[in-house]
Amino acid sequence: MNHDHHNHEQHGHAQNVTDPVCGMSIPPAPAELRSQHHGGTYHFCSTGCKKTFDADPGKYAHGAGHSHH
Ligand SMILES: [Zn+2]
Repeated sequence: MNHDHHNHEQHGHAQNVTDPVCGMSIPPAPAELRSQHHGGTYHFCSTGCKKTFDADPGKYAHGAGHSHH
């Protein structure tokens, strides 16, 4: 009979995404703070992080997947 309604983690909210540049966990970003790369969508906490990513997407896009070639 312990009904805990105070669990805020993943409760109806859109799931957080990771900013590949600074590594922060952020809510899905608005269109102007997103970039497409290799068919994937990347979200950024700020225009600064987006610019950093856009300057060298390959460097950051790989960090998300954990795959080493
Ligand atoms: Zn960031």
